[in-house]
Amino acid sequence: MPATSPALSIVIPCYNEAACLDILHARVSAAARAAVGDDYEVVLINDGSRDDSWPAMQRLSATDPHLVAINLSRNHGHQLALTAGLDLCAGRQILIIDADLQDPPELLSDMRRMMADLEADVVYAVRRKREGETLFKKATAKLFYRVLDRVTDTDIPLDTGDFRLMSRRALDALLSLPEQARFIRGMVAWVGFRQVPFPYDRAERLAGETHYPLGKMIRLAFDAVTGFSTAPLRWASHVGLALTGVSLLLFVYIAVGWLSGSAVQGWTSTMLVTVFLGAVQMFVLGMIGEYLGRLYIESKRRPLYLVADVAGPVRGHATLGF
Ligand code: UDP
Ligand code: MG
Repeated sequence: MPATSPALSIVIPCYNEAACLDILHARVSAAARAAVGDDYEVVLINDGSRDDSWPAMQRLSATDPHLVAINLSRNHGHQLALTAGLDLCAGRQILIIDADLQDPPELLSDMRRMMADLEADVVYAVRRKREGETLFKKATAKLFYRVLDRVTDTDIPLDTGDFRLMSRRALDALLSLPEQARFIRGMVAWVGFRQVPFPYDRAERLAGETHYPLGKMIRLAFDAVTGFSTAPLRWASHVGLALTGVSLLLFVYIAVGWLSGSAVQGWTSTMLVTVFLGAVQMFVLGMIGEYLGRLYIESKRRPLYLVADVAGPVRGHATLGF
């Protein structure tokens, strides 16, 4: 670790958040100052925004020596942008927070106190309430965390996003996991150490719209399930086993019909069985394909993200991809 590591790094992935940046910067800096005085850095990652986020970050970093701004080469997605920030930060404690201020930075002091009191390595914020989000988003999020809990072997906390405070050793452990398909809240749970929940009420977005439309949520959900469980593959073999049982019964039924001479019957039942088996096979193949595709992507070992530009003093130890 570099000699100049600050007490605290605040890492914030940003995609089209120009409207939030000034207030974000002010509130995050105030919270950091209240917690650790001058000994902090704020790491902003511009994840290929199409708005003025990058020029705004450059402008902010010119006036604030605490600010490190990283410009990725294109939109790599929330989890990879966050990974870039975590790679390039140097703090002894690390706070992960969203740019839209749905997660109040003012909770930092309480989270730090909890970390010290309970000697924890991770204080993860659990959403008690969510303001200003659609019923659909809340319902699907709730369902997602519960399904995930059922199918995964890792204990991933319910209703917990990426908003959390981590120790350096927990972060280093997290960064030692090389996978492309990153579901960071699950990966943090996987590394272990002492992790404690911190209940809070999630606020409304400060400006703009969510960048997690249904498609991205589904992709994240697939990454989460396939990254932490092979249960779907197990289900596939269970389905196969159950269908084998059913077909044995059918075999007996057909044989009896043939022997008793009443075998000429129905197009309907034949079609039903054919269509049903076809659908089950496609479903199971698709499930296997999901894992195979991920295996292929992981096997290419591409870098997780590429950095185009940096503004401000990067103190983290990762190599920059340029
Ligand atoms: N984000 C990102 N890259 C993306 C999408 C989102 O860096 O491709 C950032 C975004 O700027 C925000 C955080 O990820 O800081 C969470 O996104 P958002 O608030 O849109 O998600 P929600 O809170 O609605 O789940
Ligand atoms: Mg948000």
